Amino acid sequence: MKVCKFGGSSVADENQIKKVRAILESDPERTIVVVSAPGKRDKQDKKITDMLYECVALVSDGRTCHPVFKDIFKRYMDIAKGLGLESPELEKALNEVEKNIDAGLGRDYAGSRGEYLNAVLISKYLGWEFIDAQEYVIINDDGTVDPETYTKLSKRLKKGGHYCMPGFYGATRNGMVKTFSRGGSDISGAIAARAADAEIYENWTDVSGMLAADPRVVENPKVIEVLTYKQVRELAEVGASVFHEEAIAPVIPIGVKINIRNTNRPEDPGTMIVPELYTGDLVGVSAKGGFTRVSIRKLLLFKRRGVRHAFFTALHLFGVTPVFSFFGVDSIVVLFPSSQASDKVVEDMCSRLKADFQLDEINYERAQAVVGIVGGRMNNSTAFIDAATALKKNRIAINLVNHGASDVSTLFVIRDEDRERAVDAIYNELFV
Ligand code: ASP
Repeated sequence: MKVCKFGGSSVADENQIKKVRAILESDPERTIVVVSAPGKRDKQDKKITDMLYECVALVSDGRTCHPVFKDIFKRYMDIAKGLGLESPELEKALNEVEKNIDAGLGRDYAGSRGEYLNAVLISKYLGWEFIDAQEYVIINDDGTVDPETYTKLSKRLKKGGHYCMPGFYGATRNGMVKTFSRGGSDISGAIAARAADAEIYENWTDVSGMLAADPRVVENPKVIEVLTYKQVRELAEVGASVFHEEAIAPVIPIGVKINIRNTNRPEDPGTMIVPELYTGDLVGVSAKGGFTRVSIRKLLLFKRRGVRHAFFTALHLFGVTPVFSFFGVDSIVVLFPSSQASDKVVEDMCSRLKADFQLDEINYERAQAVVGIVGGRMNNSTAFIDAATALKKNRIAINLVNHGASDVSTLFVIRDEDRERAVDAIYNELFV
């Protein structure tokens, strides 16, 4: 069987929801659907989730959420009408949500209602059973999924049944509604796929799969046909989006394949994410900026026991958690998101580290970017040489290369201002 998750733009209005039904009904294997809240119908439009957060802001200012909620109300009622549904339950549910937001039930509750109301509506339209995620999905304090979720939900799903579950939320151990991070319905879809022991988790969105590069930077990038869990994870870490990076975790233990598909072009095969692949093919290139780089040097650094460990602990004391770390003979270089430390904090941290560790040198640079090339057997590949040549041809200075530490990626550290040109240059050199 297949679990299908439809993202915000796929359920943004009645016409989109009609497409959803056609997709579901065209394959009898598709028996569980997980839905997002209605997203944007066009560029100017607002996502229901954002409007719900506006409601919370009004209430925390001591006002009623009505001025915003009335538009949410209308949006759902228009969808119901467009689908030809008589919906006293929906109207009742909408009134109750407005009342509860006004009563101060808070951000997690309000944020989750976009999905809840949409699943109430869509389950009715499909004639499928509604499953409230609050009763089955347990979310730990750190935002991870409690494994008991899978056993609970799995017991609820009967063979031959058809189910519709809202995405994005669950509950804490105490039963309080809790949401995942933004875009978290992808995680809910993965949870349902794991609980149902699905063969495929179809993730329906508004693009025909993951792209080999950012389409805002590169003209007409290729769709990635197939890639592995590990490759998605590494692409996400260097800035590629489409699939929520935490959404892979639930399906890894049972190896469910994930198929990213386009609701508006259901005939396109999309991208398949699989557990393992044994090819050396390149998959994509992506870049993420906004990093600060700190480099330290000390003679015989690694002969001094515990220094490395103490260095990272000292960084944590300043609120800095490096995303990337590199080691030289007598040196360490770390990169962390610049948002973790202001100029003043970085200055203070560097003088403190210099003194405490009696460093020979310490320096830092803001506005750094990391470009990642993701593929197969990268530690045995020479693609990074071609990539470096492409950067050189475009006069892009390479600050650091990390090749061989991961079998699926090579990383280049460059200046933030060169980020887009670097992606374009590498894409054209390696993928065209
Ligand atoms: N509706 C939520 C959001 O806008 C979750 C999701 O769509 O996945 O982030």
